[in-house]
Amino acid sequence: MTISLDPKVRVRFAPSPTGSLHIGSARTALYNYLFARHNGGAFIVRIEDTDVERSETRHEETILDDLAWLLADGDTVPWDEGPRATSGACGPYRQSERLALYREGAEGLLEEGKAYRCFCSDERLEELRAAQLAAGQMPKYDRRCHGLSTDDVSSRMAAGDRAAIRLLVPAGEIVFDDVIRGPMTFSSDVIGDFVIVRSNGAAGYNFAAAFDDSAMRISHVIRGDDHMTNTARQLVVLAALGAPAPRYAHHSLILGPDGSKLSKRHGATSVGEYRDAGYLATAIRNYLSLLSWSHDEREILAIGELIVDFDLGKLSASPAIFDRAKLDWLDHHWIMLSRDDDHAAEVARRLPAGTAPEAVRALAAALKPSVASYGEVTAIAAPVLSRPQLTGESAQLVLGASESLRGAQSLRAARSADYLTPDGARELLAEYRRLGADRGLKARQLLMPLRIALTGEQHGVELHFVLAAISRTETIARLETALADPADRSGRAERRRED
Ligand code: GLU
Repeated sequence: MTISLDPKVRVRFAPSPTGSLHIGSARTALYNYLFARHNGGAFIVRIEDTDVERSETRHEETILDDLAWLLADGDTVPWDEGPRATSGACGPYRQSERLALYREGAEGLLEEGKAYRCFCSDERLEELRAAQLAAGQMPKYDRRCHGLSTDDVSSRMAAGDRAAIRLLVPAGEIVFDDVIRGPMTFSSDVIGDFVIVRSNGAAGYNFAAAFDDSAMRISHVIRGDDHMTNTARQLVVLAALGAPAPRYAHHSLILGPDGSKLSKRHGATSVGEYRDAGYLATAIRNYLSLLSWSHDEREILAIGELIVDFDLGKLSASPAIFDRAKLDWLDHHWIMLSRDDDHAAEVARRLPAGTAPEAVRALAAALKPSVASYGEVTAIAAPVLSRPQLTGESAQLVLGASESLRGAQSLRAARSADYLTPDGARELLAEYRRLGADRGLKARQLLMPLRIALTGEQHGVELHFVLAAISRTETIARLETALADPADRSGRAERRRED
């Protein structure tokens, strides 16, 4: 499959800034981005912030930061038009800045008789709804205000009565051909005349979204299937505006392992949480691309391959189950595939400032084959980078091996290098084991006390990397502390705290 160049392909990701970037929305954004890039078209970000009570600028900032990180590792603005982008002739791209356009559009519909003003109070609408429900009917507006004469409307407006604007939804069927799901049919009867501009002047979501899809010349709307009924309403809006409809592609949603919609109770659900936990954008992109999308058995896919491969028709209509273990596996895989320099830089970012470059290198080499995500680095490296406080069983274990540990200390002292390479450290350990074997000691009897003396832990980074990450002076000092008698050791610990 090749990448074609079709400037008419224009897609949009339209987040509402009411929270962080959910992993499900991130998949929608990724699909739109891949589709645009695959076709050489434009990827647009539109902020749907007409719900003033729930929308916040800080959420918009976080969503855009996380989106830029996810799609392009944060290096550039990966969308062609939208906030932060320098090009685009269809702005503004924030709906709160387009209110005059919506008003104008709605007034045009009023003039053409395709919409009408509705003065019904919330109480009346609530009563109507309750009565319809009680009668076993589908609740919908009864068109009472559609019967008002022009004079009635004018005098009520002149008297300052507040009116919403409702779309006059024609009877009939709303039909469209979903790219993923095939032909879809809705009866406009169940929709009713919905509000396109509220009495406070705010545009309704379906009106603003359809109006903007038309004004921004959107060719394909790719979004979750929870928007299916909105699509029916938006098609009615577009028809009223006399605007051509885009193609719609409703992808399935992501579910938690228990089959319910992915939510907080399944664990982390926002891109930001995974980013903070140290996951790679490459791995998350790769993971999201595998959900409901078959890649002919391939699992490890870089962004370039995803762009070349992307095909809306290949997306499955069945829901995808979020599988954290698979994400971890992919993240680990991408860590393994990373260049050593990039990997060391990721590790260094998570170590205390001023960590010696030799220690960074040794830890980076030690961690590459084992970590699932970079978020694990700090905790795994901590015991290597700080002098342990030995107490209880650990203290006993090292004291029981004092002769061996003295030997280790001499072996390290005999090497003048400030830092050993991991290979050099391996040789030192081989020599240490030979000396111990001469005294009838097994590997474990030798290595465990040494590990505890150096890190205070019984498990952790492989021992030769530990030795390579700690300077000569520090190694000798840690062994000295471990071998000091208990009273003396606590004195040393005190002194260290005062240093
Ligand atoms: N603003 C809507 C949302 O965040 C998206 C609407 C759309 O994609 O059309 O769910």
